[in-house]
Amino acid sequence: MSCPICSKQTIKAFRPFCSKRCADVDLGKWLTGSYAVPSDDPDDIEAALEEAERTGASAPPKAP
Ligand SMILES: [Zn+2]
Repeated sequence: MSCPICSKQTIKAFRPFCSKRCADVDLGKWLTGSYAVPSDDPDDIEAALEEAERTGASAPPKAP
């Protein structure tokens, strides 16, 4: 088996990589990849906040 990052021979301790450095490189790829895919849509959050504000404004607290 060869390292998917640099194609060198893998070392048992770092399988499937050849070294911690390559394992870190792969981890970095995963992290940047997950950042590229937004988990929540900012537009949706803003719309939801606006909606909540509107519903709150439509029912104002009545002063005694
Ligand atoms: Zn490597």
